[in-house]
Amino acid sequence: TVRVRIAPSPTGNLHIGTARTAVFNWLFARHHGGKFILRIEDTDLERSRPEYTENILEGLRWLGLNWDEGPFFQSQRLDLYKQAVEKLLAQGLAYRCYTTSEELEALREAQKAKGEAPRYDNRHRNLTPEQEAAFKAEGRSFVIRFKIEDEREIVWNDLVRGKMSWRGSDLGGDMVIARASEAGVGQPLYNFVVVVDDIDMQITHVIRGEDHIANTAKQILLYEALGAKIPEFAHSPLILNMEGRKLSKRDGVTSISDFKKLGFTSEGLVNYMTLLGWSPLDSTQEIFTLESAAKDFGFERVNKAGAKFDWAKLDWLNSQYIHHTPVDKLTDLLIPYWEEAGFKFEGGRERAWLEKLVALIGPSLTRLKDAVEQSQLFFSDTVEFSEEAVKQLQQEGSAAALQSILTALDNQEKLDEASAQEIIKQVVKAQNVKKGLVMRSLRAGLTGDVHGPDLIQSWLLLNQIGLDRSRLNQAIT
Ligand code: GLU
Repeated sequence: TVRVRIAPSPTGNLHIGTARTAVFNWLFARHHGGKFILRIEDTDLERSRPEYTENILEGLRWLGLNWDEGPFFQSQRLDLYKQAVEKLLAQGLAYRCYTTSEELEALREAQKAKGEAPRYDNRHRNLTPEQEAAFKAEGRSFVIRFKIEDEREIVWNDLVRGKMSWRGSDLGGDMVIARASEAGVGQPLYNFVVVVDDIDMQITHVIRGEDHIANTAKQILLYEALGAKIPEFAHSPLILNMEGRKLSKRDGVTSISDFKKLGFTSEGLVNYMTLLGWSPLDSTQEIFTLESAAKDFGFERVNKAGAKFDWAKLDWLNSQYIHHTPVDKLTDLLIPYWEEAGFKFEGGRERAWLEKLVALIGPSLTRLKDAVEQSQLFFSDTVEFSEEAVKQLQQEGSAAALQSILTALDNQEKLDEASAQEIIKQVVKAQNVKKGLVMRSLRAGLTGDVHGPDLIQSWLLLNQIGLDRSRLNQAIT
């Protein structure tokens, strides 16, 4: 059965690139009825933080990328890695290298002077026991290096990129698999622990970003050395910014929690990420759930070229999801954004009222967070009048119309749509003015603006929280 994994390093919040890789893994697992495994690669103790792990787990859950096994933590599996290092040492496939950082630096300088690419020259590959003893006596520490033969050909059939072919000599000399230590085996490194884990977790398909291609070449040698079956590899295209460069921290918003804060829905975001580098069988189909994408998912339709991140497309998809969300659920989604903005749910702003507000503004939202700006006027007691609103209120007949609406309100017990329309009708008649003037003045007085959502509904909402009279009074003074 298919077993895939996502293996984030908790050295930062869940990155959009990692999340997109998680989407492809999840889709592939679901398509084949396989397992999706979560492994936290926290071997870099200095840079790993528990709050990043929390952010990663939360982000994956929020996106609906539920995992079947894990999370496993590499920091709890060190014995396994050390045993594997010992095994390679015992077989003569790895060795202790005592080269100091000064010596390595000198080597790099010499290579640079000759115009050569930096590489380790494998100088400690065949130390005699006497040489080793002498280095130890000097107090040198050692790293563990894995032997890579220059002439080796490394070939695999990448599920996205087709035939890939590397030579051992491309890989920078014998590779370090465990960090420096004075005794025993030090901290094992990324390329090594990934392979030990992928073997132990019986991973059948390694699906990850294109930036790992050189690692794959090295890792294939490690699978062989450890006597394990080599999995299939699929390297997905990178996500690029609008300039065509790899999306990076400098692009500002890159973590899933940032996207959430900006007001993207998990469904809209996950739908968009699925389209970043993949297209469904029916390429005109743009809106789908993870489940339905899983039915179609395969690497035949994953692009080799990088995928440009397109905010306009993401916004469009997001608005589609918002507009199709039932009012009740949309209200639940918006409450956190209002809370974050400091809005208070008091003075009649109870659930039923909130839902009416959501029904009113929902259709004009692109991002959930837009609700803050668009409902500001319903949450503050006073309103600021825009320049255009002030102009409207200065129109001949405007103040008188609003005054007569105020009088009508005094005699109105409960305002509803019909009575609101009736009041406007009466005012038009009594003041002998155009209905347009009354409507525009009413909007300006109630909302402080000349544009906005449906006027009667806005009025009813303000009336229910007792703000319509004070607004209109404010407008005519
Ligand atoms: N920890 C690695 C990363 O976050 C995992 C790469 C892999 O999938 O092997 O890039």
